[in-house]
Amino acid sequence: MRNLFGIIAKTNRKKAVCFLAVLFTAAAIAVSGCGVEIDTLMQSGNPGAETDPTHEGEQTEFETERSRYFAEGENTVSPEDIPPYDGEPYAVINDNLPFFTEEEITSESFESYSELDELGRCGTVYANVGQDLMPTGEKGSIGQVKPTGWHTVKYDVVNGGYLYNRCHLIGYQLTAENANERNLITGTRYLNVTGMLPFENRVADYVRETNHHVLYRVTPVFDGENLLADGVLMEARSVEDDGEGVCFCVFAYNVQPGVAIDYATGESRLEKDDRAETEDSTEYILNTNTMKFHKPSCQSVEKITEENKTVYVGNRKDVTDLGYEPCKACNP
Ligand SMILES: [Zn+2]
Repeated sequence: MRNLFGIIAKTNRKKAVCFLAVLFTAAAIAVSGCGVEIDTLMQSGNPGAETDPTHEGEQTEFETERSRYFAEGENTVSPEDIPPYDGEPYAVINDNLPFFTEEEITSESFESYSELDELGRCGTVYANVGQDLMPTGEKGSIGQVKPTGWHTVKYDVVNGGYLYNRCHLIGYQLTAENANERNLITGTRYLNVTGMLPFENRVADYVRETNHHVLYRVTPVFDGENLLADGVLMEARSVEDDGEGVCFCVFAYNVQPGVAIDYATGESRLEKDDRAETEDSTEYILNTNTMKFHKPSCQSVEKITEENKTVYVGNRKDVTDLGYEPCKACNP
């Protein structure tokens, strides 16, 4: 028996389209059909191998991979299996193949929302999104729901100001669930808008255009007893065309660039406060006789004798820690 070797077709992440993973053996081709807009094809292994994928349904590779991310019988994802945030709003998981099994594929619409756990946290939400589940009326208020880790806090670095949104696990546009506490987590603006919304829009657009179904599952991932999720695993696969139209498996990060977050509680602070403390390199003029310090532009600096004058580059706190007092005229 020849070795398995993997061929990964990688698409441009910015376009938010699928990866396609294809496993070949010498005799048989096992394909998890999920391919659109393939830009580049990177091949490893036998250069003479068959490289023309077909779309024969084959789920056994899904099952193998699935066990890496989901505990037996549960839709829970281990935080250790999620790659660390590296500046991209989401990471592709499992070569972009969702972990649905063959038995889960159905053309009947459904939606289900896990009960909150003992800490009040949301679990997996799961739907087969069809037009019949999509909203027809106006969206109501959700301000009464307080998901775990919730804080009302604003930062200038956040678009719109508020760090946290009440973030729908399954977007309102897909299943019309609005103030359902089982479908709302505390999510950063970045998670909600940059991480999740583009994927939700793709599913919504596809269902509206085709009247097909999309199997859709979102799993919030909490590390230990943290009240704030690290992020969400988003899985989707269009049903009637076997993943041709929509197919993704991504982890969207519950982060906000510029803001440091304590995931245990949801508390936060501006990240650049740290940098100001440690990286400041302001120039001060020290008078080692009077133990006063000045801005270089201060008129008093000219009067300091060379033997009493020291140029200091660093941060202000270090200067005051040395026992120097700020000049009252230049107020350094
Ligand atoms: Zn001065």
